[in-house]
Amino acid sequence: MKKHTDTLETLRARLAAFAAERDWDQFHNPKNLAMAVAGEAGELVEHFQWLTFDEAVNLPREARDEVALEAADVLLFLLRLCDKLDIDLGAAAEKKLALNAKKYPVHKSRGRATKYNKL
Ligand SMILES: [Mg+2]
Repeated sequence: MKKHTDTLETLRARLAAFAAERDWDQFHNPKNLAMAVAGEAGELVEHFQWLTFDEAVNLPREARDEVALEAADVLLFLLRLCDKLDIDLGAAAEKKLALNAKKYPVHKSRGRATKYNKL
């Protein structure tokens, strides 16, 4: 898969400039941004609502492109939220991955969709 060259930090800075240019900082408090993340996640989920497993796996090109834009909306609002809270999202994701690796050791969780407290 081709990777975009922008880092989270580059995106964070571009988003901050985008909001500043439009005088949107006044609207970008953590509550509003957290709600925006949830709203965009809802828009993402809506594309899959009522689809069968096969339909969800084999989205038509146009629907896949729309899903990509909703995924971007989620990422951008999440990044903006983290920026406002002075959270390094990349570092938080690394930390969470490490925590998940401990919670879900391969020998217990391989091939199982069981929550860590039931393993
Ligand atoms: Mg959207």
